[in-house]
Formats: sequence, structure tokens, C-alpha cells
Amino acid sequence: MTLSAEDKKIILESIRDIPDFPKPGIVFKDISTLLNNPEAFNTLMNHLEARYKEFGLDYIAGIDARGFIFGAALADRLKVGFVPVRKKGKLPYTTVAQKYSLEYGVDEVEIHIDAFGENGCRCGDTPSKVLLIDDLIATGGTAKAAANLINKVGATCIEACFIMELTFLKGREGFDMPVYSVLQVD
Ligand code: AMP
Repeated sequence: MTLSAEDKKIILESIRDIPDFPKPGIVFKDISTLLNNPEAFNTLMNHLEARYKEFGLDYIAGIDARGFIFGAALADRLKVGFVPVRKKGKLPYTTVAQKYSLEYGVDEVEIHIDAFGENGCRCGDTPSKVLLIDDLIATGGTAKAAANLINKVGATCIEACFIMELTFLKGREGFDMPVYSVLQVD
């Protein structure tokens, strides 16, 4: 399901650029101005619902923290479960973790071991079909770690979805599954 040029413009223009945040040289894409704009948020959610309603998803996994907002809203529309992929140390039950590299140092994301059912299966021994979602893909390191985690607990990450893609960083390269972005910025 393609997004009309008019709808794309509504969503794109609702996202605010904040230069030099959180550090000099970074242009931060502020999606809070999309969320508090009912027309833009509704246009986006209608598009995501239309795109994913025939995918036969079992779960949507959202990346800490802005992926929770879009992921939970979409999960409710599609009547599937929502699973948070969290930064290390936040989840209370048994977790599986995945480290990933940052510009300087490493970070780690975690997921509950039974988040997608026992051995990653919601029904019988068929791996749960999971959509991964986040607000933005930059280098892709966070999302690749999250997708690995989904597959590590026995489920199948069938697509990674982002509201915005910074194409010049080529973050979509190296994923083992399709990558979809609503907006592309270069
Ligand atoms: P990466 O792992 O490099 O793809 O970084 C993706 C994560 O960092 C996402 O959770 C984004 O929310 C956040 N992020 C990275 N760059 C930006 C940016 N320019 N504006 C807003 N968020 C960003």
C-alpha cells in the first residue's frame, strides 16, 4: 500500500529538525511534533495499518523508547500483541540480550525470553511472525540487534519498519529481512 505524495508531505512536515542535539553535528528528528499533530499521527497510523493488516502478524516489537509509541498504537489497530525491546536492565523477568556497537563503545538491548510465546511460538511449534518497529533508522545497529533478539528467542522477524530513514547512513544494508521506511531523508 503506497502512501500518496500529499500524505507523505503531511507526515514529513510534522517532524521537527533540531540541529546540534544531543551533540554538535547531529540533526535530531523530533517526532514529538508528529505525535501532537492529530492529522499527521492519524495519517501515519492509517498508512501503517493498511500496509500491515494482511501480513498475518502475531506480534509487533517496538524499540525503546519511541518505537513503543508507534508499535503499541499499531498493535492495537491490528489486534495483535505488543512486545517492548528494552535497553539493558529494565525488564523484570528472564531476558535474552544482544550487544551492539555504537560510535564509541557498546550498548545492549533485551527482550523477555517468552515474549512471543514458549520458544518464540504463540501457537504450537510455528514461530510467531513479528514486525519490528522504531521511529528512525540511522546506522541500523540498534534495529539489527533487536531483530537478532527476536530470532534468537525462536520467533521470526518478518520485516523491520521505520517512520524515517537517514539514507546516507546506509543502515538498511546487512539486514536478514526486508526493511521498510515511510519517509526517506538524505
Ligand atoms: P541507529 O542504531 O544508529 O540506527 O540509531 C537508531 C536509534 O537512535 C533510534 O532509536 C533513533 O530513535 C535514534 N536516533 C539516531 N539518530 C537519530 C536522529 N538523527 N534523530 C532522532 N533519533 C535518532
